[in-house]
Amino acid sequence: MRATMIYGAGDVRLENVPDAHIKESTDAVIRITHASICGSDLWPYRGYGEYPDNGRPMGHEAIGVVEAIGTDVHHIKVGDVVAMPFAFSDGTCVHCLEGVHTSCVHGGFFGNPEVGGAQAEALRIPQADGTLVPLPGGRDKALMPSLLTLTDVMATGHHAAVTARVSPGKIVAVVGDGAVGLCGVIAARRLGAEEIIIMGRHPGRIALAKEFGATNVVSERDDAAIEHVRELTGGYGAHAVLECVGTDSSMQTALHIARPGGAIGRVGAPHGVNIPAADPTFYSNLTISGGPAPVRAYIESLIPDVMEGKIQPGRVFDRVISLNDIADGYRAMDQREAIKVMIEF
Ligand SMILES: [Zn+2]
Ligand SMILES: [Zn+2]
Repeated sequence: MRATMIYGAGDVRLENVPDAHIKESTDAVIRITHASICGSDLWPYRGYGEYPDNGRPMGHEAIGVVEAIGTDVHHIKVGDVVAMPFAFSDGTCVHCLEGVHTSCVHGGFFGNPEVGGAQAEALRIPQADGTLVPLPGGRDKALMPSLLTLTDVMATGHHAAVTARVSPGKIVAVVGDGAVGLCGVIAARRLGAEEIIIMGRHPGRIALAKEFGATNVVSERDDAAIEHVRELTGGYGAHAVLECVGTDSSMQTALHIARPGGAIGRVGAPHGVNIPAADPTFYSNLTISGGPAPVRAYIESLIPDVMEGKIQPGRVFDRVISLNDIADGYRAMDQREAIKVMIEF
């Protein structure tokens, strides 16, 4: 089968690899029908992280059809159309039962040599019963892009909003106009935010953010951005800040636009981020929360909103490619030509 591998900065290759197959009795194998490139895939593309000698399999967001199941898989059937969250989990351990599926004691992440990646024709799914989510409307082509976002970006934007304690009447600021930030706007609106400030400067992304419910735009950076948010909030700052980038600059902005007693939901994988212990975190009583989104905890509550058309996070996909063009898909996202790329098989 063909699978996407990365060998170093900018070096994405489509390669022939051994077919995905059942290894453990709790596994399933899915034939991928839709996958996507994640903003986090750009970190290794830009030279961050490790590159195994035989390449690193890429991809962790996909929808597929179950092709085979192990002897201990009881809730997933061959032929089911399923979504796979970016982390696998058993659904039964103490952490899963407490809603932190990304810390499952039998869990892990897709997109590495041990498990394989989803930008491929097929994938082995560990802990299939706990991990996979059957999609009732899984054959409706129009819903596919939005359902696909539930495997990561939309659920991640939701996690940012939940951990930043967005609730009705709150003033929310979203740091980052990438696909996760845009989904954060959707999530903040869905949870009843009164005002939503999107922080970014790319015209197409800002236009989409407004359609998703953003009420104000801050396009400056760093100190000027902080000042602009303060102006928009009567000098007080935002109640809830969704940090959807993961750089030190974005984190410092987030810390300084949160009002005293406010909360920051961080979902951008941190790279070189330093969070000061004293000011403003301690002296402003800030809550710093977030982490990798426990997609599996949220996805079933988000599916109905997609099915009913209440949210359309699939609009973040502004480019659709075939697997053959995967390297160009990475290039387009890296150069911000595309917000997010979907791969149709
Ligand atoms: Zn992702
Ligand atoms: Zn678990």
